[in-house]
Order: sequence, then structure tokens, then C-alpha cells
Amino acid sequence: LNAPALFDLSGRVALVTGAGSGIGQRIAIGLAQCGADVACLDRREDDGLAETAGHIDAVGRKALTITADVTDKGSLADAVAKTEADLGPLGIAVNAAGIANANPAEEMEEEQYQTLMDINLKGVFLSCQAEARAMLQNGKGSIINIASMSGVIVNRGLKQLHYNASKAGVIHMSKSMAMEWVDRQIRVNSISPGYTATPMNTRPEMVHQTREFESQTPMQRMATVDEMVGPAIFLASDASSYCTGVDLLVDGGFCCW
Ligand code: NAD
Repeated sequence: LNAPALFDLSGRVALVTGAGSGIGQRIAIGLAQCGADVACLDRREDDGLAETAGHIDAVGRKALTITADVTDKGSLADAVAKTEADLGPLGIAVNAAGIANANPAEEMEEEQYQTLMDINLKGVFLSCQAEARAMLQNGKGSIINIASMSGVIVNRGLKQLHYNASKAGVIHMSKSMAMEWVDRQIRVNSISPGYTATPMNTRPEMVHQTREFESQTPMQRMATVDEMVGPAIFLASDASSYCTGVDLLVDGGFCCW
């Protein structure tokens, strides 16, 4: 066994949603650093996607930027087709696109609930479906969905029932898809980050909350986006060839308390 080679992604093609910012951006770059060519998908063609692609170019891998909304299944089918046309057969997918917001349960309007569910839960389903259709043809694939520890515990003080429910849904949907495709060489796993320093939760108005997040976490700090890369490479690569239907908590110990 050549253990380091287990993590080598040379010759692999990956698609990452939410690749213009935060966790998705850093994972897209990390996959490229391990040898993959990467299609980077986000909602808007802004600086974020160009920045991700620039980092991928800099490590000598091919980057493709794609503007699409994960709630639109036609755009996702087009994104997978373009990825395969430009980069080759799809073998790795990381679905990181997501949003977060809050409102007390008794005040939350149906529209706020539905918009978040459409992106965070249905968007993951539609992404996985489009990706798996290609991977099933290709005979192999690894899908990683970015869930959250909020799908396992209820964050103290955060009134975000829709977010928590969407992430619990992502974890269980990932296990369900893992079992549907287990005999066809498609692995599906999820990563559940704890509090991570990204634009989602480092806005200036959240400084006070950030300190609380840190003190509630056994490791007494938030994760950096870099700390989500190793887990993603593990699940994307042959290093995890016997893992499917796993939810990998990367939470600084949060869910132990
Ligand atoms: P982020 O806001 O930095 O990145 C999210 C990206 O998703 C953005 O680039 C955004 O444009 C994109 N996106 C949103 N809606 C989209 C849509 N409809 N179609 C296409 N792209 C869309 O946030 P992040 O913290 O990096 O979050 C990434 C994932 O990690 C999310 O699913 C989030 O729920 C999850 N997560 C984050 C944390 C955290 O503490 N930051 C913790 C646990 C889980």
C-alpha cells in the first residue's frame, strides 16, 4: 500500500457548488492542490469565482467557472455537461452552496422558510441528482455534501429552525442516496462543520456572537476554512474508499458537550 497516493487526486475532475466563497472556495482550491481539475459553481459571476479560479490556475490545474443557481435543475444539468465537456468525466462533487438566516419560529414567514429550504435542502438534492447521473454513467464517484453540526444539535441561542432542519435533512438525505447507489460505486458522505470563520458568520454585526461561538466550543475557537479541506480530500479520495453514508463532524468537539 502506498499510503500518500491514497490522497492523490491527479486526473480527477471535481465540481464544487458555492465555490465563490468560504468553505466551498477553500475546498475547491484544496482539491486542485491534490491534483484535480475543478469546475467552480456559484450563483453570481463575481470576484469570488475568479479568485477561486486564479488559485487553481496558480497550482497548475484547470479551473472552469460556472454561474448557476442550485435551485434550478436545468442549470445544474448544463453545469455538469459543461464540466464534462471541458474537463472530462466527473468523479468528485462537493455541494457547499447554502445560506443562513434567523427568525423566531412564531414569527417566521413561510417565504423565509421556503427560500432557505429550497437552497439548502432541495438544492443539495438537485445537485446530487445531476452529479450522480453523470457519475453513474462514468462508473464511479464521490459526493460530499456540506451539512452542519446544526443538523445534529440545536445551536444555543440561534432561532433558525429552518436552517437546522435543512441540515438534518442534508445528513439523512446523504445517507439515503449513499444506500441507493452503494452497489454502483457512487459514495455519498457529508461533512458537518462547527462554527467556521466565513463571510456567513463573521459579519461586523456578529462580533459579539462570534465570541459566544468560541466560548461554547470545546476547542475555544472557530474553525478556519482551511480545516475543512483535509476532511473533504479524505472523503473525495481513495483514502475513504470504504466510507459511504458517513456524516463527518468537524466541530472542535462541539457535539460532545
Ligand atoms: P459563504 O456564504 O461564504 O458561502 C456560501 C456560497 O454559496 C456563497 O458563495 C453563495 O453565493 C453560494 N450560494 C448561496 N446560494 C446559492 C444558490 N442558490 N446557488 C448557487 N450558489 C449559492 O458560506 P460558508 O460558511 O462557506 O457556507 C458553505 C456551506 O457550509 C453552507 O452550506 C453552510 O450552511 C455550511 N456551514 C457553514 C458553517 C459556518 O460556520 N460558516 C457551519 C456549518 C455549515
